[in-house]
Amino acid sequence: MCERCPQWNAPLDPFRIFGSTYYVGTAGLSSVLITSGGQTRGHILLDGGLPQSAEEIDRHIRRLGFRTEDVRLIVNSHTHFDHAGGIHALQHASGAVVAASPSGAQALRQGMPTTDDPQYGFHGEFPRMPKVRVIHDGETLRVGPLAITAHFTPGHTPGSTTWTWQSCEGARCLNIVYADSLNAVVGPGFTYASDPARVAGFRASIAAVGALPCDVIVSVHPDFTDLARKLARLTAGDADAFVNPQGCREYAESSARLLDRQLAAEH
Ligand SMILES: [Zn+2]
Repeated sequence: MCERCPQWNAPLDPFRIFGSTYYVGTAGLSSVLITSGGQTRGHILLDGGLPQSAEEIDRHIRRLGFRTEDVRLIVNSHTHFDHAGGIHALQHASGAVVAASPSGAQALRQGMPTTDDPQYGFHGEFPRMPKVRVIHDGETLRVGPLAITAHFTPGHTPGSTTWTWQSCEGARCLNIVYADSLNAVVGPGFTYASDPARVAGFRASIAAVGALPCDVIVSVHPDFTDLARKLARLTAGDADAFVNPQGCREYAESSARLLDRQLAAEH
């Protein structure tokens, strides 16, 4: 258990974000389900929260009327225990394929961050995933009619991945972005400033997320993009509460400021 885990794992009822995209995470850790309707069964799940979140996520999927057994693909944002911890149990419950970036796959297989992870010193082990499909940057993964695209956004971790797809309600289709963490957080003994190439890569990731086609953004820590406020508006009847075409740009701007602050603190 970690200090913030009870707060991260606090309950939250699942809800529809837009179209076939649903929030099935906890109050403090995002997990997103993309469903295919009609006769073509098969869903995609993004992230598994903490190890102790998996049961909650499974319950949320069922509460929405879907079956966890129909999840065919599970992908991860980054391999810290608060986003990758529940994947093992959810893979077990579903039989889904787990797919990740090369560095992400290595961390999932060993059940802990890679040694070049800025937070490696914090350790933070999680249940190992023996079988992980390795994907490449820009790859589109398909489950039935569903398609999600991987955008490698290294910086917070070496294997960080932001995911995009479209969801539709009738003829209206929106670009959804599941944005990985872009905050510069370091464990003991690590500095960003000592590695200019890494900083340049991080800045490129931030710029890439800021420039994505983006009608709806959900960040892996939901509070980074005001999920609670948007949900309150949604509950109050604003069907477009999650629609914010500036959302990715705003997220990138605040992430760039955090990186600048971290670099200044290191100098
Ligand atoms: Zn993290």
